[in-house]
Amino acid sequence: MGLTLTEKILKAHLVDGEFVKGQEIGIRIDQTLTQDATGTMAYLEYEAMGVPRVRTEKSVAYIDHNTLQSGFENADDHRFIGSVCKKHGIYFSRPGNGICHQVHLERFGIPGKTLIGSDSHTPTGGGIGMIAIGAGGLDVAVAMGGGAYYITYPKIVKVNLTGKLSPWVSAKDVILEVLRRMSVKGGVGKVIEYCGEGVKTLTVPERATITNMGAELGATTSIFPSDETTLAFLKAQDRADVWSELKADDDAVYDEQIDIDLSQLVPLAACPHSPDNVKSVNEIGKLKIDQVCIGSCTNSSYVDMMKVAHILKGKTVDPSVSLAIAPGSKQVLNMIAENGALADMIAAGARILESACGPCIGMGQSPNSKGVSLRTFNRNFEGRSGTKDGQIYLVSPEMAAVSALTGYLTDPRTLGDMPEFKLPEHFKINDNMVVPPADEADMDSVEVLRGPNIKPFPQTSPLDDSIDCQVSLKVGDNITTDHIMPAGAKILPLRSNIPAISQHCFTVCDEDFPRRAKNMGKSIIVGGSNYGQGSSREHAALAPLYLGIKAVLVKSFARIHRANLINAGILPLTFVNEADYDKINQGDEIVLADVRADVEADMSKLIVVNKTTGVEIPVLCELTGRTKDIILAGGLLDYTREQLSK
Ligand code: SF4
Repeated sequence: MGLTLTEKILKAHLVDGEFVKGQEIGIRIDQTLTQDATGTMAYLEYEAMGVPRVRTEKSVAYIDHNTLQSGFENADDHRFIGSVCKKHGIYFSRPGNGICHQVHLERFGIPGKTLIGSDSHTPTGGGIGMIAIGAGGLDVAVAMGGGAYYITYPKIVKVNLTGKLSPWVSAKDVILEVLRRMSVKGGVGKVIEYCGEGVKTLTVPERATITNMGAELGATTSIFPSDETTLAFLKAQDRADVWSELKADDDAVYDEQIDIDLSQLVPLAACPHSPDNVKSVNEIGKLKIDQVCIGSCTNSSYVDMMKVAHILKGKTVDPSVSLAIAPGSKQVLNMIAENGALADMIAAGARILESACGPCIGMGQSPNSKGVSLRTFNRNFEGRSGTKDGQIYLVSPEMAAVSALTGYLTDPRTLGDMPEFKLPEHFKINDNMVVPPADEADMDSVEVLRGPNIKPFPQTSPLDDSIDCQVSLKVGDNITTDHIMPAGAKILPLRSNIPAISQHCFTVCDEDFPRRAKNMGKSIIVGGSNYGQGSSREHAALAPLYLGIKAVLVKSFARIHRANLINAGILPLTFVNEADYDKINQGDEIVLADVRADVEADMSKLIVVNKTTGVEIPVLCELTGRTKDIILAGGLLDYTREQLSK
């Protein structure tokens, strides 16, 4: 029986476990990436492990999330990351060099290699045939130390692409169509593998738009084959030497198949407040807009920018619309500055932002109250824009640009004939904003520079014999990591200061939660289904850890967040019967008697006794050998220290 491309790469990297669906496997990691919002903590964790030099083939730290410097905190954090990188063998992409996924695709990604990144959109690397997975910062720290990365052996979904996109229909519409069909939960436990004749009609940046937003499906990752198109992209980046051809065997067997005829797709938009709330532009009808933002790791490639510039050229942005554009990397910005496209954008009235995440993570450009904002980004969860009642629609760059001119949501096909937008034969290569690490011989002389904002990793302790505490918070379905640990310009600078950032934990849902939880000393959280969906931010586990959360009991978890809870030593529990969610309330006193002994004995079914009502609630605690040991040790850091000391 033939193998899928996913299986081929995973097999080549397997270091622990067996290839059995649903079982945990450990894979060797070739490359890691971090961004600044998660990176400071990842490097504090890496330091705490005591490994002097990274053991990966390539590790890169990017500064893209919080480049606003309205206080000393960010500047200190950037300096800390830069100095840690220099000392420990990590490449440092300076602020201004671009968004991590865009730059990694351009300058570092290699077909057939494994990459984990402390950012949920790391699967962007699947656009050049990598197994690229979003993970918690602690997982990245362990991988940098030479440890394996563990995933559940995934189901593999074949997305069979046929045909060719019609003019002004784009890669964004492909992934929006997949989201429309599969939903934000549809990819959980799965790798989405793109195959079929239609693949060769898509460039690498277009493929990367699709794999990037596979994160919104909840998928482990998404991947395209590495073919002649991949080679052309790498050649244009002066990196043809890292190319190899990679594809699934003809007789590969998949768990599921989805067929998409590219020629049948129409321009789509994800409506507020979920990336799977997808409608065609005609279904949405007349929609007045206030703001357009173009950029992010989803849609800020050279060709995206060239299309936008073409649409804007010689025109003026509608007077009622604010148009902001952030090219994804210095490379892209440099090229459009040289060829005049940037001048066309500026002349039309666009506000040019630096090459960084910016409005995507709520760093500026929040829309006006109740404002309708079209964004080429990947997420439109409530409040993520920084405006609580903002109405965010996710669209292609083509639709965003034409709508900025008309002031209404506009079908880009009304633009008429589309010229051919080609990838350049040669990109402008200039890596002067990537600082290489010090030579191994010199690393001892490098001083790590810490500002007052950098506080140590929170206190952890081995799993208690019994958990006897109150429910400090009860929340509903689809809680995102933005609910648990909001981002934004005021909060992100506190990312390396867990005591301070935890004061914002869950305040979107309940302003009093941090104070209440801290006063309780120990407590648990109860939630609904898909708890922790969204970003990989491990602060959504570290802040609850600091606030004394011992367990989270929900109907179901999002993959990365569950892993982050385990890594933080917080027990992840699910209801055996979802209806039991109604039998436990905020403030109730609960007991998990002899929980340590039960976990040690591999018992997957535990009993939560609700002391307030007297009801017994069966819950699942599904931990495998390794995750069990992590929980018993009090988290991944303690577990890794134990392993390294053996
Ligand atoms: Fe940055 Fe937004 Fe991409 Fe996250 S999703 S890496 S915040 S651009």
